[in-house]
Amino acid sequence: MHFTQKDYQKQIDERVVTLEQLKQFIDITDDTKAAFTKLRKLFKWGTTPYYASLMDKEDTACPVRLQTLPSVWEAQDCTPCASSDPLMETENSPVENIVQVYNDRVAFCISDACASFCRFCFRKYYFNKKKSARETFDKGLEYIRSNKEIRDVLLTGGDPFLLDDETLETVLRRLREIKHVQIIRIGTRLLCTLPQRFNAKIAGMLEKYHPIYINVQFNHPKEITNEVRIAASTLLKAGIPLQNQSVLLKGINDSVKVMKHLVEKLLSVRIIPYYVFQCQLVAGTTHFRVKIEDGIDIMRRLRGITTGFAIPQYVLDTPYGKVPLSYNRFVTRKGDYVLLETYKNKIWHEFNPLG
Ligand SMILES: *Cc1c(COP(=O)(O)O)cnc(C)c1O
Repeated sequence: MHFTQKDYQKQIDERVVTLEQLKQFIDITDDTKAAFTKLRKLFKWGTTPYYASLMDKEDTACPVRLQTLPSVWEAQDCTPCASSDPLMETENSPVENIVQVYNDRVAFCISDACASFCRFCFRKYYFNKKKSARETFDKGLEYIRSNKEIRDVLLTGGDPFLLDDETLETVLRRLREIKHVQIIRIGTRLLCTLPQRFNAKIAGMLEKYHPIYINVQFNHPKEITNEVRIAASTLLKAGIPLQNQSVLLKGINDSVKVMKHLVEKLLSVRIIPYYVFQCQLVAGTTHFRVKIEDGIDIMRRLRGITTGFAIPQYVLDTPYGKVPLSYNRFVTRKGDYVLLETYKNKIWHEFNPLG
């Protein structure tokens, strides 16, 4: 079984963008109503009927609701250093739509559309740009072509999979004409919010441009449904590895229990956990942010209680690249031994002479 173009088109045509439409899925509280009125102009709202159908009808703490619906907390955010562009992407942009912080790889924003707007998005500023991403394809491709060090291109946006198949294929074909581009990665939230997008047709198209990798985003086990399993399987059959990048979000996944459940459910649909991001200092996201020490502690406690490769790397993205937020298992050196902390807090003495 797989999805058809019609399943996908229906999700797009019937996108949930008004309170009236949202009422078909959940009971709307006065707080949500107030937030809609207050925040309408501040940051776009909208989602797919599929993703809205995952919302709990009554529970306001539902992780899908929290990620999608405007909250009055957003307006009360007074974080002093919150910014609209925390990663200084506008400054790290040699040409419009390319962000480069590493010599060998770039992020190439080729779409300025999303199917569902995440309240904690760090590219909110992107949706206020005048020129559409599509208009600047040529300059981006030219930049990649003329910089021979670039071997890894990460297509992002917005969501690249909201481009039609032909447009996306044109970008892939033109990238493949550049000899020094070894791998192409595509970042998308659609496997989570619009799995119907990944039908056999698009998988067949992508397959022609290997090696292609897809980076997806799931933040809570509730998001991993049978629809996701079907879509993931279609992509995997086309030989496309799927890697998950979560955002650590207060009240959504900031516990060992939820993280363990999330990463294990990801593995059950053959998606490999890759990164857990510290939530960026974007205006209006204070209520989502978890203390870095607490994040490190959650990741430390996962080691030993689940599959080794289920454990993603916890990182902070900065304007100068990603920084791993790791714990240290190295306790001390004692003569010819180093002392290491194992997962049940037992100390192991490893013979490791200095000389
Ligand atoms: C995250 C990111 C990459 C890719 O980083 P990896 O650690 O290789 O996944 C590349 N460029 C930019 C600008 C990024 O933010």
